[in-house]
Amino acid sequence: MTTSAMTSPALNVLLDDVATTLGSVDQTINQMMAVKTALLATAARIADDEPFDSVDSREMSHRAVATELAAVLRISDRAVEAQMGDAALLVNAFPATAAAFGAGRISYAHMRIILAAGQPIETAEGRARFEKIVLPRAESESPNRLRPFAKQAAERLREVSFTERHSEARERRGVWVREADDGMAELVQFGPSALIHAEHDRLTQMAFAQKTENKRIAKESKNDDFADERMMAQLRCDILSDLILTGVPKGHTTTDGLLGEIQAHIDITVPALSLTDPDALAAPGHLEGIGPIDPETARILVGQTPGFDRVFTDPVSGTVVAVDRYRPSAEMRRYLRARDRRCRFPGCRMLARLCDGDHTIDHALGGPTALSNLADFCRRHHVTKHCTPWKVRQLGGGLLEWTSPTGRTYVDRPPGVATHVTFEDIQDRMPDPDPAPF
Ligand SMILES: [Zn+2]
Repeated sequence: MTTSAMTSPALNVLLDDVATTLGSVDQTINQMMAVKTALLATAARIADDEPFDSVDSREMSHRAVATELAAVLRISDRAVEAQMGDAALLVNAFPATAAAFGAGRISYAHMRIILAAGQPIETAEGRARFEKIVLPRAESESPNRLRPFAKQAAERLREVSFTERHSEARERRGVWVREADDGMAELVQFGPSALIHAEHDRLTQMAFAQKTENKRIAKESKNDDFADERMMAQLRCDILSDLILTGVPKGHTTTDGLLGEIQAHIDITVPALSLTDPDALAAPGHLEGIGPIDPETARILVGQTPGFDRVFTDPVSGTVVAVDRYRPSAEMRRYLRARDRRCRFPGCRMLARLCDGDHTIDHALGGPTALSNLADFCRRHHVTKHCTPWKVRQLGGGLLEWTSPTGRTYVDRPPGVATHVTFEDIQDRMPDPDPAPF
C-alpha cells in the first residue's frame, strides 16, 4: 500500500504536478548555467587569443571583453571578469567536473563546491585524483553533504604544509566595509586568528569593566541614570569605534610622527530642512556614494565641520542645479562630485571622491573645460575609456552615452536624476554655468 503526501487526492495530484515541473525547471536552469559557464570560458579564451588592436596587454584585453559582457548583463565588469576567471579555471583545471556539469550529472551548486575545495590543490595530477574521488559523491549527494567531504579530500591531496599555507593566507589580510540596511554597515577585519581573538577579548574585558564601573556609580549615587543598559555586544561596538576614531597607533609611525593625528574623512549630504527643523527627522542625511544616515548623526557631524558647500537640487528630478559660491576649479570639482557621486561607467559604484575628473572630449583635442564636457571616472574605467574601444559622449544634463566595442549603447544617469525624466526636461532646468579653466 502506498502512502500519499496529502490526505486530499486532488491536492496530491497538484503536488505531484508541482514536484515534476519543479524538477524539470531546475534541470533546465542547471543546463542554462552550464551553457552560461561555457560562454564565459569562451569569452576568457577570446580575451587570451584576440587582443583588441589598440590594446597590447592581456589585462586590457580581458577588461575590454568583461566590460562588453557586463553592459549586456547589467552587472559590474569586475564581477564579470571574476566569473570569466572561474569559468576558465573550471574548463582548464577541472575538465572532468566541467564535463559532468555540461552533461547535467551535477548541478551548478555542486560544481561551485568542487571548484572552491579543489582550487588550492597544486598539481594537475592531484586535481584529477580529487575529481575521481568527489564526482561520484557529487552525483549522489546534496551540495551541503558534498562540501565537508570535498574539503577533506582536497586537504589530503595538498602538497604545501600548514605553515606555508598560513603565511600565504596572511598576505590576504585586510579590512573592508559591507553595506547593510537602515543606515548601518559592517567593518570586517580579516587577519591571523590569534590577533583577531585577542582583539575581541580585549574589547570584551573593556566592555565588562565599563559596565561594572557604571553599575558601581549608579549604586553609590543611588541614581539609576548612571546604570548602563547596553548589551556587551553594543559596548564592544562603541568601544571599538572610540579606539579606531581617537586612538593612536603604537606599532606604526611616520617621520613627522603625525600618523595618529590623521582624522577620519567622510562626505555627507544633509537636506537643509533637517538641520534647521528639529521635527524634520524623516528626511535623513546621505553618506556620499553609500546611502542614508540618520539626521541626528548628520546634525552632530555638520556641527563639528568647519564649513560646507550648499548644493541646490531640483525637488522633482533631484538633479543638482547649483552649488553655493560657484567658482571654477575647486568649486567645479565639488559640483561634479555632487552631480556624479560615483564613477560614471555603467554599473560602477566607486565613490566620486576617489575618481579622476575626465574631459569627455580630450582637452588636447579642443574639448572645453566645462561641466558639459567633464565626468568622474575611477582609475580602472578612466583607463578603460582611453585604452579600449569604448566610446562616450555627453547628452546634456549630466547624461553620458556609452558605446561598447561591438556597438551597443548605454545611457548612464547621475544618481540624483530620476529615470522617468527626459534630458530635455533637465536641460530646461539646468543653469548654464560658464565654461571655466580647471
Ligand atoms: Zn568605475
